[in-house]
Amino acid sequence: MSDGRLRSLAIISMHTSPLAPLGGYKTGGMNVYVRELARELGRRGILVDIFTRRESESQAAIDDSIGEHVHVVHISAGGLGVVDPNTLISHTQEFAGGIHKYATRYNRGYDAIYAHYWLSGKAAEVLRRSWNIPLVQMFHTLGAMKNRIAYQPMIDPRVIGEMEIIRTADRLIAATQAEYAQLLWLYRADRRKVSIVPPGVDAGRFAPLPKKQARDAVGLRDGERMLLFVGRLEPLKAVDTIVAAVGMIHALEAELLHGVRFTIVGGSATDPERRKLIAMGEQLGVSAYLDFVGSRDHTQLPYYYSAAEALLMPSDYESFGMVALEAMTSGTPVIASGVGGLQYLVREGETGFLIPVRDAEALAQRVRDLLHAPSERDRMGANAAELARKYDWPIIADRLIAVLADAMLLRRQQANSGNPGG
Ligand code: UDP
Repeated sequence: MSDGRLRSLAIISMHTSPLAPLGGYKTGGMNVYVRELARELGRRGILVDIFTRRESESQAAIDDSIGEHVHVVHISAGGLGVVDPNTLISHTQEFAGGIHKYATRYNRGYDAIYAHYWLSGKAAEVLRRSWNIPLVQMFHTLGAMKNRIAYQPMIDPRVIGEMEIIRTADRLIAATQAEYAQLLWLYRADRRKVSIVPPGVDAGRFAPLPKKQARDAVGLRDGERMLLFVGRLEPLKAVDTIVAAVGMIHALEAELLHGVRFTIVGGSATDPERRKLIAMGEQLGVSAYLDFVGSRDHTQLPYYYSAAEALLMPSDYESFGMVALEAMTSGTPVIASGVGGLQYLVREGETGFLIPVRDAEALAQRVRDLLHAPSERDRMGANAAELARKYDWPIIADRLIAVLADAMLLRRQQANSGNPGG
């Protein structure tokens, strides 16, 4: 609008809803990101419509439960049911059509579109052209990186789709320096388009809690100590490295494990990955130390983080690693593999430790160090909480609003000069 302020935003999250329960196979950081950002923008009086694919009849057409001025709009595309995101590409036009219809019906005029993951970007390209407003894109994961880690061919329809979005979007948000470099070097993005803005964390929710309260809430008995994993149970999270590390500690120094719990939050009893991990624990003779508790609501996680000696995150890759940030905000050190976003969040010896990918021995050593020197937990935890303050959502939202406003300004200038841009 004329004074250049962001008043209304269309957020697109096609394949996964910000209302979905977390910790499932495909629901994680991006769902939290969209939900928390929308809530923060809504709090500031910005109208936010989040468009996501309708998965079931029971979903209200419009859901207002996230917060003030925020609406989740369920749009039909490709039938009902949960479907593999890879198959949704053939329904992005239909999805964009549904959004268009909604906007016309409710007389919505947005200042900008903020699209998440490449599928949403494809739908957003259509809308951007017809509404003539800027498109800001965040990928959360890039196909080229996923393929590298999974040893798959580099050129697939997703990578090609991402390249197109990178060319046409007005601005791109990279969560980290690493993603910035990937956009530039793997996708040849125009560096002037890319802004590095990390995800935020809700510092009101995640804060160091009194130890006893947290320990009681998660059912730790006197004398017990807990090491924690939180996340989707999928192979890339490398929970098997944790189980292998427990096996190594058990072989080297079994007495150290007395009263120690390794708690795995996320997934469900039917996950094949969970069954694999349980079998591995049995084979190594360490099942007694492992607790698979399944997914937990976001509101319960502060207790887990605050009660833990450390968060373990030995992932093969994390584009950001929201869980690490939540643990840090809760005053808990993190032992993580030095990949993707984790290498920027964790400061070696200060807020936790970085280990090589799939190095169970290094993980076992770091866990032993912490169990032997419990005061280190508080020192590193305090540093972690201090460092995490700069990720508080209001600070991050300011930075995103600045990028969106910039994109709006540029588009107006292009319109005034008669050049519609990209
Ligand atoms: N999460 C949750 N309950 C669970 C497991 C995960 O609320 O049982 C949340 C977690 O708090 C975090 C997100 O899901 O906000 C996972 O984000 P992350 O970036 O760590 O991983 P991703 O799922 O994006 O790979």
